[in-house]
Formats: sequence, C-alpha cells, structure tokens
Amino acid sequence: EVKTQGRHGYCFYAPEMSQRTAASQRIENVLRHALAHGELALQYQPKVDAKHGHIVGAEALLRLYVNGEELFTPDQFIPVAEDTGLIVSIGTWALREACLQARTWQRNGHPMSISVNVSPLQFQYAGFYERLDSILNETGLDPSLLELELTERTMMSGGDGTIRLLRRIRQRGVRLSLDDFGTGYNSLSYLKHFPVDALKIERAFVRDITQDAETAAITSAIIAMARSLNKDVIAEGVETEMQSRFLRDAGCSHMQGFLFGAPMKAEQFEERLAARST
Ligand code: C2E
Ligand code: MG
Ligand code: MG
Ligand code: MG
Repeated sequence: EVKTQGRHGYCFYAPEMSQRTAASQRIENVLRHALAHGELALQYQPKVDAKHGHIVGAEALLRLYVNGEELFTPDQFIPVAEDTGLIVSIGTWALREACLQARTWQRNGHPMSISVNVSPLQFQYAGFYERLDSILNETGLDPSLLELELTERTMMSGGDGTIRLLRRIRQRGVRLSLDDFGTGYNSLSYLKHFPVDALKIERAFVRDITQDAETAAITSAIIAMARSLNKDVIAEGVETEMQSRFLRDAGCSHMQGFLFGAPMKAEQFEERLAARST
C-alpha cells in the first residue's frame, strides 16, 4: 500500500510504479520485435481543404501489430519508444516509409502532401537533418510534399540549436507544422519565433467549440491570429458538420477528423483518391 507522506516524503514501494514498469517493459519487447520483424505499419488520415472538402494530403500515423492485432495505441507505445530511445529507429522507419508512399502517390498522378510526426528525442538526436536529407535523396520525394509535425515540447526542448535546425529543414524545402496547438504552454507569440508553416489546433478545442462559448472564442482568435501571420491552420479531430461549419467560417484552412476519414491503410486511401473526381 502506498502512503503519501507529504511533498518531501519518501515512498519505498509504489505498486502503480512497478506495474507501469512491467507494462512498459512488455511494450518495449513488443516494439523491438516489431522493428525486427516488420510489424510496424503506417495508416493515413485524409487532410482536406476546408472550403471544398477535397483531400489535399495525408497524415501518417504509426500502428503496432502483435500477431496481426493492434494491442497498443500510439499514445501507449510512443512514450515507451521515447523513453527507451527506440523512437530514433522507429521514427526513421516511419519517415522513410511515409516518403516512399508519398513518392508512389506522386508517380501515380496523385501528388499528395504527407505529414509525419516527429518526437522530441528523434528530433534532438544527432544527425536528424542528415537522415532526413538522405531519405529525401533516396526516395526522390519532392521535399515540398513533406511536412514534419512537431509539438511545442519538441521545439522548446532543443535550446538554441532548435531554431537553426528548423530553418535548415525549411531551407531544404520541407514544411513544418506545430502539432497539438493549445495543449502546452505555447502562446501565439511563439509562432513568431518558430519558423513554422502551419499550426494544428488540438482536438480538445475542436470538440468543445459547439458546446462552449469561451472555447469557441479562443479558437476563433487563434485561427485569426495565425492567419494574420500567414500560417495555415488545420483543425484536428473534426467529427461533426457543426464543428466543420464553425471552423470554416472562422477561417480555418484545412481539417482532419472522422467526419472526413479516420486513419486507414494505404490501399483504402488510394481508393479514396481514385474515387475523387478531380
Ligand atoms: P497526433 O499527431 O495529434 O494525431 C492525431 C490523433 O487523433 C491520431 O491518433 C488520430 O487517429 C486521432 N484522430 C484523428 N481524427 C480524429 C477524430 O475525429 N476523433 C478522434 N477521437 N480522434 C481522431 P493516433 O493515431 O492514436 O496517434 C496518437 C498520437 O501518437 C499522435 O497524435 C502522435 O502524437 C503520436 N504518433 C502517431 N504516429 C506517430 C509517429 O509516426 N511518430 C511519432 N513521433 N508520433 C506518432
Ligand atoms: Mg500529428
Ligand atoms: Mg495532433
Ligand atoms: Mg496528439
């Protein structure tokens, strides 16, 4: 049993802690196995333009299979990958795989921007730029079709070198977006400091805009200010027509969410592309 002994108390035994360790050890083993045996996969979620609802891009999202089953969600396994350093190999795999896929779509007449999530450790790890550069060279993907999604945590964690690195990536022609905007300590003033092309409004805001007047007001203000700084604004987690209409009227440029499509396998994504009449 755990006894809380005040702020500076000692705790010799915390069952939740050892349970968490066992769970994360299990996930670590699964991740190592998956990396070695090709049991990681990407799914692709449509990104649509807010005006017409046309698919203009895809976000690549990692999936982990254990004997063909998804036992763990990214919110469970990404933190373990981050803690163990495995994220560097996993993230590199995801980046290459996403670029290959986008290159295939480009070749098949569906030039499609691809967004890839990059975690803090992966981004800070020595040689991130070189690895990115060689993946672009190797796959031949037009760099302007690639967008890296970074969270505020990633951007804040790297010190002075971060802004230089962000600039270098952009000079290579790759786009940058600030993911989960609104969740961290980020304020709009950071948008001035970080050279990003787009920001993605966190799902929690989108969820509440039609319920809560304050959230609606804040979200509108975020969109307006981001637009005045010439950034794209992508709303995440759009599930209803009402949310979509609100966001479009507020000036949001792009949307993602179950209303337009959940993350899906590449083949399903291609069917969606083939079905669109443009
Ligand atoms: P994220 O980058 O913010 O991705 C959005 C998450 O919201 C995805 O969850 C997506 O499936 C989910 N989502 C999209 N639309 C809706 C909606 O309308 N309603 C609801 N309820 N959910 C929606 P997912 O795929 O489970 O990924 C969770 C997080 O894991 C991602 O958040 C990202 O931070 C991380 N992640 C996923 N793939 C990668 C990766 O390749 N590398 C890194 N470093 N992180 C990744
Ligand atoms: Mg993302
Ligand atoms: Mg997000
Ligand atoms: Mg998220």
